[in-house]
Amino acid sequence: METRRVLIVGGVAGGASCAARLRRLDERCDIIVFERGPYVSFANCGLPYYVGDVIQEEKKLLVATPELFRNRFRIEVRTGHEVTAIDRQAKEIEVRENASGRVYRERYDALVLSPGAAAVRPPLPGIGLDGIFTLRTIPDSRSIREWIEKRRARRAIVVGAGFIGLEMTENLAARGLEVTLLEAAAQVMPLLDREMANPIEHRLRKQGVHLRTGDPVTGFEATDGELAVKTQSRQAFRADMVILSIGVKPETGLARAAGLEIGPSGGIRVDECMRTSDPAIWAVGDAVEVRDFVTGMPCVAPLAGPANRQGRIAADSIAGRPAAFRGVQATAVCGCFGLTIAMTGTTDKRLRACALAAIPTAHLPPQHHAGYYPGAKPIHMKLTFRVPDGRILGAQAVGEEGVERRIDVLSMALQKQATVFDLEEAELCYAPQYGAAKDPVNLAGMVAANAMRGDAPLAEWEEIPVTDAFLLDVRDPHEFAAGAIPRAVNIPLPQLRSRLAELPRDREIWVNCGVGQRSYYAVRLLAQHGFRVRNLPGGLTTFKAFYPEGLPKPPSAEDRLTERREKI
Ligand code: FAD
Repeated sequence: METRRVLIVGGVAGGASCAARLRRLDERCDIIVFERGPYVSFANCGLPYYVGDVIQEEKKLLVATPELFRNRFRIEVRTGHEVTAIDRQAKEIEVRENASGRVYRERYDALVLSPGAAAVRPPLPGIGLDGIFTLRTIPDSRSIREWIEKRRARRAIVVGAGFIGLEMTENLAARGLEVTLLEAAAQVMPLLDREMANPIEHRLRKQGVHLRTGDPVTGFEATDGELAVKTQSRQAFRADMVILSIGVKPETGLARAAGLEIGPSGGIRVDECMRTSDPAIWAVGDAVEVRDFVTGMPCVAPLAGPANRQGRIAADSIAGRPAAFRGVQATAVCGCFGLTIAMTGTTDKRLRACALAAIPTAHLPPQHHAGYYPGAKPIHMKLTFRVPDGRILGAQAVGEEGVERRIDVLSMALQKQATVFDLEEAELCYAPQYGAAKDPVNLAGMVAANAMRGDAPLAEWEEIPVTDAFLLDVRDPHEFAAGAIPRAVNIPLPQLRSRLAELPRDREIWVNCGVGQRSYYAVRLLAQHGFRVRNLPGGLTTFKAFYPEGLPKPPSAEDRLTERREKI
């Protein structure tokens, strides 16, 4: 019997995982990996840190080499070989060897595509100028390092404030460059809900980054040895180099040309075993369309974890083992000037985009470990959950310490379809320097579960500018004097029982304090005295995240009239 041949296109996250797993399952098949670049299985996630010189030696980025694959796994890796076409009829691929230009064909029984995603380079005027870089490969990061060193670059512009943009901003600043960060959306980290991005913007500015949001780039020019980046607001920002980090696009050229189905989100369509519309071809990683675990909608999720898992699942499927990809939660983390930004599952923003609004959210800024132990740092947390069953739909967190641990726990809870009531009961490790007897994860569950049970209904921060509710602040007078929500009335918690007569019974009372704890006690007190009352979760800390510039002006009577007329 002829030996089964498995060919793999792309030798980094998804492709390399698939190859190695397949060998562990099947000793007999031939496995050949084709990689058009010079390296296989390199750490693309480490590239920003190589640019920043945190990782100083290029070879540290090489997780594995062709020799290792050959010696350890009997897998043949052909670097510098680009797969240029798939002949599905003949079950052959066409390959070009870059060095010699030689073109040849290889037969397959199973083909795996893991070509990744290309950095977006929109066709803007001047996009091809020298000094404008994207970052995907080791040679890209080498070119950026060389440019900084040879040109003695002092100023850089980073376009796009997503994960890679933030990492590059931090790393260029670490090399002493003055960095301007331009973002087309109204906020940095556009995947996060608006209020979660505010602490990041604050940190960037504090670190001397020139940040401009809501101003899309329209083109580039080179003048007097400088690059000028022009924006929609007709400004020109000048620098010695530009990093474009405005997103990635699935590499679907091979798949499209071969007539494989492409999904509505632009990725290669696959089933849960990662098999494409051709039963002899699998696809994994950044190039494929997957199912959003929470909304069920098709999406692309360019993340290393899913790519690795999908590679393993494709290998299982090729080896005849049952395996299924569960969908992506987009669990992700990013560091930026000492802040950790992490998320899992969905956001309010995404739910609204999918027309699935009216989902409650709990905000809270708990300390990352026991407050009495030195060095406790707040984590700004947001938990999104579903009514009526309390199922967790998403979580976002920003802070200096302990952020990723909480999001990892919440990510697993989400994957196991846990509820906010499960979070109340989660048993997590605790000693004062690590956590709290009521861990931030427990507290998030408690805030949400209290709302679900009707014990402490939550008010929405977005409604503060327009609400007719009575705003009650139960902090101490000196705290209130240092800053409060406009229109709020201060009755300190210890005085509340004796001053109930000052509170209205004909409208809702929304209570706030510093972080949401005293307001919760006040809500319970007032509810038992027959008041209609809600908690403003996360207290003044969250208010400041929502309204860093203070409250917007409430709509005038004329604006309200116009709005009503438009509705009619
Ligand atoms: P890739 O790892 O991109 O591999 C695809 C390979 O296929 C490429 O090497 C390409 O040269 C090759 N190829 C393409 N077409 C052909 C062809 N026709 N013939 C031969 N070879 C071909 N994710 C995280 O989860 N966390 C992070 O911190 C993180 N940081 C990142 C930082 C950077 C700078 C970048 C660029 C990405 C980062 N990612 C991160 C994303 C993560 O690296 C990707 O999601 C993951 O590598 C995708 O794996 P893949 O196998 O689909 O594609």
